Amino acid sequence: MTTALSSYREIAQRYLPCNPLSKRHHLSCGHRIETQDPEPCGSNCMHAGTGTQYLCRACIIQSVLIGLGIADDNDVGDFDASTIGNIPEAIVEEEVSDQKSALGGKFREGRIPKVYGLVEFLNENPGAKEAVRGERREEKPCVHDVELLFQGLGLREHLDVKDLTDVLAALVIDSRGNSPGDADVMMD
Ligand SMILES: [Zn+2]
Ligand SMILES: [Zn+2]
Repeated sequence: MTTALSSYREIAQRYLPCNPLSKRHHLSCGHRIETQDPEPCGSNCMHAGTGTQYLCRACIIQSVLIGLGIADDNDVGDFDASTIGNIPEAIVEEEVSDQKSALGGKFREGRIPKVYGLVEFLNENPGAKEAVRGERREEKPCVHDVELLFQGLGLREHLDVKDLTDVLAALVIDSRGNSPGDADVMMD
């Protein structure tokens, strides 16, 4: 595959947080949020902007989980859309409306993204992963591939362990033409 990864740079920007073209934001609490349309950064973005702050549903879900004894303070970060299924929605909604009134209408809302943006980018742009994998497409993806991906796309974002695992899985190219996510995807 000869497609230069750099030709995907602009497309990738739309999937990554806190970017003029992106619908995603990475908040200072560590959670991520996805808006309907691209919006400017808020005062509680990781790279704080001048926009109104975002209400963080993941933080509220986290505090509800802690309150119910299901999570503790160390369980930070991993609150994606799937987490909500495990907890009483009514409790969360009550907390949300409490926080909304506490903020006096000075907030913006979004939803909790289902997957990390870079994973979505790879899934929707298979040519980009072929540009990374090239000759080594039959091998298992490794951290070096992720480094190539970041270099090629000109990214400087920090990846936590879960993101890294997800990105590695998304880099799998199945020569049999099946969709990724099969058993041989895992890291070890
Ligand atoms: Zn932002
Ligand atoms: Zn949060």
